[in-house]
Amino acid sequence: MRSRNKPPLIWLNVLLFLISFVLATIVTPWYGYEYGLGAEHWIWLVITFSFCNLSITTGYHRLWSHKTYQAHPALRAVFAIGGAFALQNSALHWSSDHRVHHKHVDNNDKDPYSAKRGFWFSHIGWMLRNYNNDTYSDYSNCRDLQKDAIVMWQHKHYLLLALATNLGIPLLLGVIYGDIVGMLLVVGALRLVLSHHTTFFINSLAHIWGRQPYTDKNTARDNGILAFFTFGEGYHNYHHIFENDYRNGIYWWQYDPTKWLIKTFQWLGLADKLRITPSLKIEQAKAKQALKRAMARLDQHPEKLKLKVTLQQEFDMLMNKLNDFYALKKQIVEQKRSNLVEKYERSLLLIRYREMKAEFKAQQKSWQLALTHC
Ligand SMILES: [Zn+2]
Ligand SMILES: [Zn+2]
Repeated sequence: MRSRNKPPLIWLNVLLFLISFVLATIVTPWYGYEYGLGAEHWIWLVITFSFCNLSITTGYHRLWSHKTYQAHPALRAVFAIGGAFALQNSALHWSSDHRVHHKHVDNNDKDPYSAKRGFWFSHIGWMLRNYNNDTYSDYSNCRDLQKDAIVMWQHKHYLLLALATNLGIPLLLGVIYGDIVGMLLVVGALRLVLSHHTTFFINSLAHIWGRQPYTDKNTARDNGILAFFTFGEGYHNYHHIFENDYRNGIYWWQYDPTKWLIKTFQWLGLADKLRITPSLKIEQAKAKQALKRAMARLDQHPEKLKLKVTLQQEFDMLMNKLNDFYALKKQIVEQKRSNLVEKYERSLLLIRYREMKAEFKAQQKSWQLALTHC
């Protein structure tokens, strides 16, 4: 059914998504069955898929959209090429949309891929029609990126770069391995479809499916399964509250290869000024969200008034211990840096630090216990 209110379709996008999808899901399996595909097809599929997605996560997203670190020009050039290969518009355009998404998240009129407009719209629908015709070329929220010569070079030559990578790389591999059609299908179409939809899942599924440990002020979720398929971008609840952090999965056990890659680039001297959120702020956000959720649960409890008072007391004590502990930690770091403190004074501080850490940990346990009782 056609609605009169809907803006016109962007046929180029519709055909591109449709044709690549049919090639990947029908023609590629048929070709593989008829003519066979070798290990080289699968190896290059993984390499090129990773190159595309990591260029988006490490380059478009964490470097350009959020400025969570600074990167060497050589690295930026690689991301610019990989981003064109991923066929997700120029870095300037992508970042501009993404900054609007963060600023107006879930606002159906302003967020270009608002999750509140449903799975289909936030996943792919927003690209199929001319929804943002008036603001399409408005890059005023990316003035910083307009000073980046590599971003502007990619923006200017985007079409050429997209064609050169999307056709040139599979063709070259096809010539090398003697199977042009097979490589065009696997490294061309299949890689593109996998790369597109795994990235799109962040706008759709990562706003629907998962936990909200840090905030429920927006629809973003943390989801380890999605993180696995998206090079770490699945920790989207954390990302929406602390968007300037170069990490999305902040714990060592959280799968965030993009974070590991940025850290590796730092060791190699290709990235610096990596930004992280202070642990104090992270702990505060987590505890506040847990309190909010527990208070809501207690609304159904017959002894809700008494239990709410106890819970609030536990929370206040946790906040006090947390603030004291991190204040002392900061003091120690600063004094260490300025080297002003005598050795014996430092050892006294360290004793105090250990005591406060133990007190904080004990209060954390008590807080967790209080939470399990509601
Ligand atoms: Zn983001
Ligand atoms: Zn989001």
